[in-house]
Parts: sequence; C-alpha cells; structure tokens
Amino acid sequence: MDNLKSDIQFLTGVGPKRAEILRKEANISVFEDLLYYFPYRHSDRSKFYEIREISPDLPYIQLKGKFISFEKAGGGRHTRLTGLFNDGTGLVEIVWFKNLKWIASTYNTEKEYVLFGKPVKFGNKVNIVHPEIDEFGVWQKKLTAGLQPHYSTSENMKKNYLNSKAIEKLIQNAFIQIGTSVKETLPSWIINKYKLLPINKALKAMHFPQNTDELANAQYRFKFEELFYLQLKIVRVKNWRYQKIRGYKFNRANDNIVIKCFKQLPFTLTGAQTRVLQEIRSHFESGNQMNLLLQGDVGSGKTLVALLSMLIAIDNGYQACLMVPTEILAKQHFTSISKLLYDLPVNIGLLTGSTKKSVRNEILKLLSGGSLNLLIGTHALIEDTVRFRNLGYVVIDEQHRFGVAQRAKLWEKGETVPHIMVMTATPIPRTLAMTVYGDLDVAVIDELPPGRKPIKTVHATDSQRLGVYGFIEKQIKLGRQIYVVYPLIEESEALDYKALSDGVEGITKAFPPPKYVTAVVHGRLKNDDKEYSMRLFVVGKAHILIATTVIEVGVDVPNAGVMIIESAERFGLSQLHQLRGRVGRGGDQSFCVLMTPNEIGETAMKRISTMVETNDGFTISEVDMQLRGPGDLEGLKQSGFDIGLKVASISKDSQLMQYVRNIAEDIIKEDIYLQLPKNQILLHRLNDLKDDFGDWGRIS
Ligand code: ADP
Ligand code: MG
Repeated sequence: MDNLKSDIQFLTGVGPKRAEILRKEANISVFEDLLYYFPYRHSDRSKFYEIREISPDLPYIQLKGKFISFEKAGGGRHTRLTGLFNDGTGLVEIVWFKNLKWIASTYNTEKEYVLFGKPVKFGNKVNIVHPEIDEFGVWQKKLTAGLQPHYSTSENMKKNYLNSKAIEKLIQNAFIQIGTSVKETLPSWIINKYKLLPINKALKAMHFPQNTDELANAQYRFKFEELFYLQLKIVRVKNWRYQKIRGYKFNRANDNIVIKCFKQLPFTLTGAQTRVLQEIRSHFESGNQMNLLLQGDVGSGKTLVALLSMLIAIDNGYQACLMVPTEILAKQHFTSISKLLYDLPVNIGLLTGSTKKSVRNEILKLLSGGSLNLLIGTHALIEDTVRFRNLGYVVIDEQHRFGVAQRAKLWEKGETVPHIMVMTATPIPRTLAMTVYGDLDVAVIDELPPGRKPIKTVHATDSQRLGVYGFIEKQIKLGRQIYVVYPLIEESEALDYKALSDGVEGITKAFPPPKYVTAVVHGRLKNDDKEYSMRLFVVGKAHILIATTVIEVGVDVPNAGVMIIESAERFGLSQLHQLRGRVGRGGDQSFCVLMTPNEIGETAMKRISTMVETNDGFTISEVDMQLRGPGDLEGLKQSGFDIGLKVASISKDSQLMQYVRNIAEDIIKEDIYLQLPKNQILLHRLNDLKDDFGDWGRIS
C-alpha cells in the first residue's frame, strides 16, 4: 500500500481524535499532507546574540543570561510584568501580559536562562514580549543539531496538545514510518539538469535541515517545482488554444485608412507605440486569435495604438469596437477619434446607456447591416440587442472595471472569436501578468510621448493646508486648472460625503465666486448635473474640479496641472497612481499634492513616499505587490485569484518564475501532449494537480 496516502490517524502519536483536529484545522488527512506541512520558519538555536547588538530589525533571537529584577506595572486589564535581563553586554526588558502569577513564581534572579523571542520596538525602547524560556541546563539537554522548525498551529490545535513541538515530533515519526519512499514528483532529467535536491532529501531538509544552505536548497527545489508546474499548465493551455482556436487573418496589403490616418496625425508615434503596433500586426497576420493585454502607464498613448490597430481591422473589411467603463470616457474617445479620422471613410458610432432610442435603433441597424465600421461605447455594447455584422476586433479600455463574464459576453455573439486587446493603465508586474492572465500575451508601452515633464509629487499634512491653498492660487493665476479628489468608499459613505461637502465649503470660501469657478462631481449627482460640471471643467470654464474617484479613469484635460488628493493615506497605490495620471498631460510642469493627517501608519507612509519618489507605474506596482501581496492587487481579488503557492511567492520569486516559464515553453514546444517517456511524470503530476489550480485568466 502507498504509505503516503495512509490516513493520518495511523501515525504513531495521532489516533482518531487528533486526526480529526489535524484534518479540520490544518488540512492534514494523510501522511503526505503532514510531510508537506512546512514550517513557517526555523530558528538557529546554536547561536546566541548579545544584548548590545539587539535591534527591532532582527528576527527571532536567542539570548543567554540572568534576570536582575522583576516588576509589576499598570493595573486592571493593563497589568503587566517586566523583567530586566542581563547577559553581561547590556540590559533588555522582557514583558509579559498573561500568566503573570505563574511567571513570577517560576523564574527567578538566581538561575541562568536561555530566552528565545523577537525584539520589538516599544516607544523608544526595544523589548521582547513573551519569549520562550528554558533554564540553561534544560536547554543544553534539549539542544538538537541544526535548525529548529516552527509550525503554525491554531488555538484548537494547541488545546489538544498539537503545538509546534508536537507537530515536529509527528513529522519525525512520519519520516521513520515511511522511510525514504516518497515518489519523485519531477522527472530525473529535470532534477539533474537544474541541479535540484531529490524529493526525499528535499522534504527532510524542509523540516530538519542541517544548516541554512541545506534549507535554502530544499526551498529552492519546492519553489522551482511549484512555479514550474504552474507555468507548465499555463503554457500548455496557451498552446492548445493556438492549435484549436483560429483567428481572422488581417493581411490585406493595401492598408488605406491606416496609412492615411497615420499621415494626418499631429505627431509621430513613440518607439514603444510603433513596436507594439508591429506586435499586434504580427498577431493579426498569424492566423491565431489574438488575446493581448496591453499595459501602458497613464498617458503613454494607448488609445492611439488602439485606434490604429482597429483601422487595420477595418481595412480588412471587419468591424471593430472599443469598450470603455464610463460614459464620460466613451464620449471623450468618440470625440478625439472622430477628430483624428477627420475626412477618412470610417463610420463611427457611439452607444452608451443614455443614447436616445431613435439614435440607438439607427446605430443598431447600421451595425447589423455592416455599414458602421467602428463602435465606441460602454456596457451598453454587450446588451443582447447589439448585433455586429462581422466583428473582427474588440478593444477593451481600463479592463479592471469589467468582470470576466461581461467581457466574454461580447464575443460570444460572433461565430468566430474576434481578436481581443485589453488595455490597462494599472500595470502589474510582468511575472504576475503572465500568471494571472494565464494565456494572454502581454505587450507593454514603456515610454511616454516626448516633451512630458515628470509630475512633481509632494506630501503635505493637514496643518499645511493654507500653504497648499496659496499654491493653488498661484497655479490658477498661471492659467492652470486644479483637481481636488476625495476618497469615497461604501463602508464609510456617509462620512465620506460629509468630508467632501466640508471640503467644497472650505474651497469655495478660499476661492470665492465669481472670481473663481468651482465644479463638483460625485456619484450622488444626477447624470445631467455630473455631465454639466464635468463639461465646465473640460472646456476650461471651471478653475477647480472637486470630485470623488469618478475621474480616476481616462479623463483627459491637458490644461489641468495640479492634482490634490485628500486623505491620500486611504487610497491604494494603484489608485493614487491612476489619479495622478490625470495631470501631466500638457507640456507644462504638473504637480500632485498628497494630503494626509499629521500622523499616518507605516504602510500608508510607504505608499506616500513611493508616490513622491517615482512616477513609474511598474515600480509602483512592484511596491504595491510587496505591500499587499499579489492576491490583493486591484482587480485580482474579485477574480478569485488563488494559485495555491506554498513555498514560492509571485512577488519575491519573479526571476525564478521567468526562468521556469522558459523551461516550460521549451518542453511544450518539443512535446505538446507530453507523450515522451521522459515527460510522463509531468503528465501525471499535472493531472494530479488539476484541482489545486483555479481556472484563471481566460478572456476568451
Ligand atoms: P493612455 O490612454 O495611455 O493613458 P492616451 O492615449 O489618452 O493615454 O494619450 C495621452 C495623450 O497623449 C493624448 O492627449 C494623446 O493625444 C497624446 N499622445 C499619444 N501618443 C502621442 C505621441 N506619440 N506623441 C505625442 N502625443 C501623444
Ligand atoms: Mg486611456
């Protein structure tokens, strides 16, 4: 029998009751699960730190010395016990909040102790709270070679004598009972070629490494393996897709409209725009259906790339559509695209929720008849009544506002799946993109049009508000327009609207009409009023636009030179970046002011300082990912993003991810159905792992 799959209750020291707890609390039901229950860290119990070198940056540390005094402090619920600990190099305060009686009666100032704990900063002191404590003599007897594993355990586990130490013991038992019989999960040629630890060695070393090198080798093997199978699966699906789904071929040589449009552009394309267009063109000509994610920072000129590539489709006799998340944006695109196509034989339509019925019917008729070439619109585009004659290409702007299902609706309409490009100005790190968006191709515009001055960003606290108003006044004198943005989230909606209306009042006082015109836009306004306010600002009649985040996406007012973000500490990094992207679109120097209270938390401060330091969306998204973990990134949460990585981390192991991606690609290139004998383990393993992976990232 396969020991690995034996019920955990048959392991020495478990039994039915603890088996139940292990299953419920830690998802451990068979031996194998236990072996893969990796410790979250190891401690080196052979090394002592000196108190004089302690700092809060250190991880868990071990000290040897004596208590010189104990003292009770605080009262009631806040009673605590502190002990001064001395190792001959200095003193450190040890603090307890619980079990004070027991501690006071157990430890004394006579004996020598070994402490193990994490130094933390408290006020301007460093102390250690609730360390593990052993008498030195006891500690010596316990001392095992190598590093000691620490396992996470729940309260319920601890109550049933399944603390970290107990888990450690169980794992030792498991290794004794099964020996080294775990079957290899990677082909031997991969183990050899990439110098990985074999499975049995690696498993053992994950728990009981002799030294940190061995631990690192074991972790490397499992990181490699996790990321490798993840990528292998993605690459395989992607290649299947290429084989199964054919795409329209746009290879007509006389690109009339594109070339004409090109000639009448008021500027030349940036290198990055040209390169991306070339990439799109080669997808169009390949015969495969394109599924492209276009990442480009705010203001990098994605719309133009969208337009030119849509013209290629139109030149080839197909219809194209551009779908955007808001009505304001749809109109803006319609206007600017109509201007760029001035005089060219392209019929453009605009369809939004507020399109009048008669106009709408006319558009639908032209669309199904085929004489409308290009349709721009909002969600209204995916209603069932909308029928294209021959939709060849769909561009989706600011993708995270659309759910996957909504997107899919658009192309379920046609018989053949059209080419698809999703554009996003919330760049996510490449390695994340190629995982989250699974089988999408990723293209990047990594260059801004020339002549843009980087936006200057400053952090100002509420007590500096007067100075900020002075600055606004000067900028208005220079002819620039100002955005002031307030946070608005559902959970605190009432409070947020209060802050907004207080803000409006404050600004109107500081910038009174008729000399100054202030426009206000937020979700509680009627559509018409919203439009009206927005227009006032767009045409330059309003000096200041006070808004909630509705302006976050896409709005283009080149004369707006200052972005003030109120309560900036409450915004996420990608949102801050989006908002800031609303300015800096003209040739003049633009500014972004991040307003916060005087005191803000550490991560909020990190977000603010990142914004102050850099304008680069990719750097910002990297920091965002480190701060929040990839699962929390914008748009990923709602897509149920969970790829079940245990050892590897998408944010920390991006280099390894790229490395194993290449390996996976080579394997699939050689053996797409994994039929070669040397790849049999891969095939079986992928089938075994099937349930662990979600079905992410497919957009068509
Ligand atoms: P994005 O959608 O990527 O945020 P847009 O497409 O709105 O950016 O472009 C921002 C601004 O830059 C627009 O006003 C556009 O006309 C202008 N623009 C685009 N490409 C170029 C270029 N190659 N040279 C100069 N200006 C450009
Ligand atoms: Mg845009």
